[in-house]
Amino acid sequence: MSFDTLGLSAELLRAVSEQGYTEPTPIQRKAIPSILEGKDVMARAQTGTGKTAGFTLPLLQLLGRHSNVKGRRPVRVLVLTPTRELAAQVGDSVETYGRHLPLRSAVVFGGVKINPQIEKLRRGVDILVATPGRLLDHAGQKTVDLSQVEILVLDEADRMLDMGFIHDIRKVLALLPKNEVRQNLLFSATFSSEIKQLAHRLLNRPELIEVARRNTAAERIEQRVHPVDKHRKREMLSHMIGSRDWRQVLVFTRTKHGANRLAQQLEKDGLKTAAIHGNKSQGARTRALAGFKAGDIRVLVATDIAARGLDINQLPHVVNYELPNVPEDYVHRIGRTGRAGKEGEAVSLVCVDEHKLLRDIERLLKRDIPKVVLPGYDPDPSIPAEPIQNGRNGNGRHQHRKGAGGQGRSSNRSGAAGAKAERSGGRRSQGHPQQKSGNTRTKPPQRNSRSGQGGR
Ligand code: AMP
Repeated sequence: MSFDTLGLSAELLRAVSEQGYTEPTPIQRKAIPSILEGKDVMARAQTGTGKTAGFTLPLLQLLGRHSNVKGRRPVRVLVLTPTRELAAQVGDSVETYGRHLPLRSAVVFGGVKINPQIEKLRRGVDILVATPGRLLDHAGQKTVDLSQVEILVLDEADRMLDMGFIHDIRKVLALLPKNEVRQNLLFSATFSSEIKQLAHRLLNRPELIEVARRNTAAERIEQRVHPVDKHRKREMLSHMIGSRDWRQVLVFTRTKHGANRLAQQLEKDGLKTAAIHGNKSQGARTRALAGFKAGDIRVLVATDIAARGLDINQLPHVVNYELPNVPEDYVHRIGRTGRAGKEGEAVSLVCVDEHKLLRDIERLLKRDIPKVVLPGYDPDPSIPAEPIQNGRNGNGRHQHRKGAGGQGRSSNRSGAAGAKAERSGGRRSQGHPQQKSGNTRTKPPQRNSRSGQGGR
């Protein structure tokens, strides 16, 4: 099936073919005609399915039909996204697919100066892509008028709820014309009961679209655990990258502090490395990502939240330098590799403190991950497990409304736990009795629900 049969205009078909797309993806096949008919849509689709073009192409066409080029330009389409990176990506897609149409778009998110955004909004935009926090800042300053919005898109709605944006979403909805006179599109990777509630409030007799899940990460990606003592993880990582000649590696740590420290150490080992997390300015994050994609930066060290929404295609290697406190984050992390049908490799360096986290992950995956002890890195069985605490001492909590690059509305899901773990890296406790399995003294992982970025 080709794109020609979907009812898209010549300008859009041209942009699509310039992108090199020959066939619509399943979500595009289903969503594009429904959206063109003016229906509300509730779509279950993950990143990587082509969902962005699935809503961007038809909404561009709908706007093009009654172009209002000469008069004042009110915002007619509003796309809300959970993260800055996703907002930037959607904004890029709008520009790319709309390049042959006389429409204007803007992207607004926090962590960057507000004035250039105000200036752009003042000149008038048809399509606005925004994270909720910064959008509300604009609304508060009356630098954006949402009273003429014809189409609302909630992209990655499950993530938005996950990140505690429900109140902001409600506030934004109150600024829009009534549901009934608007077309509403909701995209989400999961349909939890919260998503269904939101959809019930928002959508009018929606067309329900579900595309087959891609093969799960567990099926697509080669996964391995390398047991190792905590204080030898950095050495092992440098060794793996060097000896296996990995050229592009995404490495996850639990905390910003841990990410910074590891990046500095890898640099000292002679590996070109950058860290990407919420305390970095938006400019620094964008530069790091661009350098990584271009191959100038060999290792990108990221926290879970900073990595959300990053579209790094066909990444060959993902390393869990520290396991995440929340098992679902493991799946998101390793989903960065093996994209676009390519095989990928996900390696986890697991110390004795993390045995319980590993068991939780394996329970979620419903399978064991193969364990391979690398020669020379056998864990010392006399080292006892130390608790991984979910501390509250300010490493990410209460950051909301922070200045440049603040990671979000409130918090970092893992809290200071990993920072603490990092700081204690390598310390051998003397005189503890040997423990046979796991970290039996480890507190269960807790999840702070209001984690996130993409705020102001
Ligand atoms: P998304 O799920 O929207 O994040 O898209 C995932 C990737 O698929 C992006 O890099 C798109 O450029 C790409 N893509 C979208 N539609 C198509 C298509 N019809 N054919 C090939 N690639 C596509």
